[in-house]
Amino acid sequence: VLIVLFGCDHHQPGIMQASFVMKPQPRVEALLAKMTLEEKVGQMAQVTLDVVTQGPNAYESDEPLKLNIDLVREAILTHKVGSILNTANNRARPLEKWHEVIGQIQQVAVRESRLGIPVIYGIDAIHGATYTSEATFFPQQIGLAATWNRDLVRKCAAIAAYETRASAIPWNFSPVLDLGRDPRFPRMWETFGEDVMLASEMGVQMVKGYQGEDVSAPGQVAATLKHFLGYSVPASGKDRTPVHISEVELRERHLPAFKAAVDAGAKSVMINSGLINGTPVHANKALLTDLLKKELGFTGVVVTDWKDIDNLHFRDRVAATRKEAVKIAVNAGIDMAMIPYDFDFCKDLVALVREGEVPMSRIDDAVTRILTLKYDLGLFDQPTPRGDYEDFGSEETVATARKAAGESITLLKNQGLLPLSRGVKVLVTGPNAHTMRALNGGWSYSWQGEKVEEFANEYQTILEAIKAQAGEELVTFEPGVTYVESGKYWEEEAADFRAVLDAASNSDVVVLCLGENSYTEKPGDLHDLSLSQNQVRLTRALATTGKPIVLVLNEGRPRLISEIEPDVDAVVQTYLPGNYGGEALAQVLFGELNPSGKLPYTYPMFANTLVTYDHKPSEEQDKMEGVYDYESDFAVQYPFGHGLSYTSFAYKDLTLSDDQLDTDEELTVSVTVTNVGDRAGKEVVQLFIADAYASLSPDVKRLRGFEKISLEPGQSKTVRFSIHARQLAFVGKDLRWTVEKGTYEVQISNLKKQFELSDSYKWQEVDPVL
Ligand code: BGC
Repeated sequence: VLIVLFGCDHHQPGIMQASFVMKPQPRVEALLAKMTLEEKVGQMAQVTLDVVTQGPNAYESDEPLKLNIDLVREAILTHKVGSILNTANNRARPLEKWHEVIGQIQQVAVRESRLGIPVIYGIDAIHGATYTSEATFFPQQIGLAATWNRDLVRKCAAIAAYETRASAIPWNFSPVLDLGRDPRFPRMWETFGEDVMLASEMGVQMVKGYQGEDVSAPGQVAATLKHFLGYSVPASGKDRTPVHISEVELRERHLPAFKAAVDAGAKSVMINSGLINGTPVHANKALLTDLLKKELGFTGVVVTDWKDIDNLHFRDRVAATRKEAVKIAVNAGIDMAMIPYDFDFCKDLVALVREGEVPMSRIDDAVTRILTLKYDLGLFDQPTPRGDYEDFGSEETVATARKAAGESITLLKNQGLLPLSRGVKVLVTGPNAHTMRALNGGWSYSWQGEKVEEFANEYQTILEAIKAQAGEELVTFEPGVTYVESGKYWEEEAADFRAVLDAASNSDVVVLCLGENSYTEKPGDLHDLSLSQNQVRLTRALATTGKPIVLVLNEGRPRLISEIEPDVDAVVQTYLPGNYGGEALAQVLFGELNPSGKLPYTYPMFANTLVTYDHKPSEEQDKMEGVYDYESDFAVQYPFGHGLSYTSFAYKDLTLSDDQLDTDEELTVSVTVTNVGDRAGKEVVQLFIADAYASLSPDVKRLRGFEKISLEPGQSKTVRFSIHARQLAFVGKDLRWTVEKGTYEVQISNLKKQFELSDSYKWQEVDPVL
């Protein structure tokens, strides 16, 4: 058992101080005692499957997967490698293939290595078992966040875990707990959006779904929280470029989701590949050891991101040699090196220990964490999964994926056009209308999602699903703009729009499907957040026909639509809903499903106005009394939390249990919601609190509670929230979590009520880490 002693204060809202003592469990201790330095260091290395198939340069090759057993032996027996990740040739494999390959690898590790230590295999199963060809795909994280449905998110994660473990893979590089606060960032869709509370709560649900009560049980995998810390807000908006951030901001916004997931028992953490204030996070001992391991009390494995020890030398130039990079990273608190530049990492690390440059205690700590994870996962007892995993792709599994896709879809605008009536003639157009790739996004059967069409033929595109709903004879398809392969990634091609316009004039309604093709990481970096000019031109041309237009957005981040939004009658956001997204959308369009998704981010209106809802008063849109006599320009397209329904909900009786609150007390807030429309629907009740005045300019409001409810027509429900005074805390200038006495305002829908916090309070000391 790893013993962690917390100097913990029950007031503590976001941060816990730990004085920690780590002691390996007896089995780990016994094993550690038998290991040579080379064996220990080998456990700290994680190579790709390519290294043991065709060799290190085969990543892009299309050769069928073939394990080269000599290379497996070289990695595991000669270099003592303890971990393998991803898939060879960047493509999905059938379930049986995974069993065969991982089975063979474990045979070598368990039967032929001196100590019989199993390999731990890791993969990015970020919205289902990404690289298993028959797996069930769920909406990507941004879509899961839009459901605002905790139970559903946990169930999706549990199924993803089951199908990943069924593929003999026990370690998942998910969830992403970076905040999606900048839509320029190409991985915004891998996040739960901009809000601290939503990301924290959904992150905890994902960890619970992945790891279950007991991570060694069949069908569970170890979760990885990534990318610690502050990865998603680079100044340029581009992946892996410098982040400049204050420690107040880092702790108040970026840390809580990680802390919540660490407290929920997450087994591993992956590190931010980039720089914060000039220091590569992989070289930052204050962040990795003092904050993560000591202050948060994290006892699991800290793994680098792709080649990031190398990057300290080649890219970031804080290490003059690769060997120095190893020293800096391991001393900073890295336990495992992903892609340890062939095997020199192992040689260099052994030498560094012998030279006294890396203490043996640091190696023992890292290896203790890694072996503990292997024991916790049950890999020593059962290196490949037992059981037949007969629920793989079961009806219930598919129903959950459908439900998640359905609940993620967010109706942003509706001028009486939706739902469509049966019998209307529909023109389906736009580059996103007939592609499974765009529905799934990156990390789907391959890294950039570029192999989706090869594997996802049995599912319906938006076009196919609309045909199935409306009747084939009533649907015409003219894409107007299409995505075409170009080199490694994609570009758009625009046709002459005459055919589209002819088809529009012969239809009653236009379903215009715009957005993005799949991407992740650097290939998804943008020069311009605007929707492409081809897509804007297509919309403008269609608007001249006077036909009603439903704009369907299928995108990983909010691309600017302010130029064309006035031309359309309805806007539906699908995010990246996965293989069942086309069906779910068609159900929403024809009213079979009542939309209930809510935006997990602020949809921006202008490129120079990228603002989140929890901004400062000086970023307010309204004219500021006594300050400015003109309106400021922070207009947004759609606010955070926005999403329409086909029914209407009325809010009344906002009640607070008291109008005074002490710093160790809880306030009960209740509100009654009634479905005043004529069909059943789901509503997300969102509770915001605003601090009127504070020593650091307060956010205009913060989400402090949410609950998704279902209501039949005419039905009412009273929703109750308990708010502890600590939930009102912010990180003060002294880096301590702080509440200040004074007036606070509770806001639910358009109802508001005030209360007074009777006192100020500060939680315990923290050491600055930046
Ligand atoms: C990404 C990580 C991912 C890793 C392994 C990196 O490039 O940044 O999120 O887990 O690759 O595939």
